[in-house]
Amino acid sequence: MTPMLIKIHDEMTRDALGERFSPRALETIIAANLKQDAIRGQFGHDEFHYDNDAIEKGDRYIIEQRGYILTALLSPASDSASIFAWAAFGRLLHAAQDFYSHTNYVTLWLDQYADSPPPPPEIDPLQKDLIESPSLHSGKIHLPMDGFYFVPFLRPLALRLLPPNSHGRMNLDSPAQGPKFDYARAAAVKRTQHEFDLLRKLLPPEMFVRFADV
Ligand SMILES: [Zn+2]
Repeated sequence: MTPMLIKIHDEMTRDALGERFSPRALETIIAANLKQDAIRGQFGHDEFHYDNDAIEKGDRYIIEQRGYILTALLSPASDSASIFAWAAFGRLLHAAQDFYSHTNYVTLWLDQYADSPPPPPEIDPLQKDLIESPSLHSGKIHLPMDGFYFVPFLRPLALRLLPPNSHGRMNLDSPAQGPKFDYARAAAVKRTQHEFDLLRKLLPPEMFVRFADV
């Protein structure tokens, strides 16, 4: 999608995972993450991005990708098995990161604090009652207006025409979206670390070493 979005997924993944993977593993993970925003992944794949209220589908997609990581690492060690595991982790992270920019999770979290919210680094990316809240929802794509949103000179017009529950009005994809962007970014970085820690706990040591490749 836009260079801005690509840059942010790339930066967040590096911030969160830094030295935890070998360079070749990290680059494969990031490439698979960014590929989810290619045109082919934009239509009919709400679960890649938690779009259109696809909360359950997004959650299931993440579990499915985690399953692919385990499957790949259970098979005999080979470069292709490792690449398969890293790519699945990249796809998993894309959805996990988009969760915070495409749903109202950040808004629900901030709403608990009225006028004095804690700073962005303190956001809990997985507060149970919010994750399970019936008020949790994500932006609906309204074509063609949500397409116009991505054309800079049409954006003001699109925003005037789009309803409050639209992708265009709800998304926290870039700093231009205001102060909530910093919370969405901080939550996505923390969630990325959480997904890594979860695999470190789940995988037997020898499988984890193959995964991290360090
Ligand atoms: Zn996306």
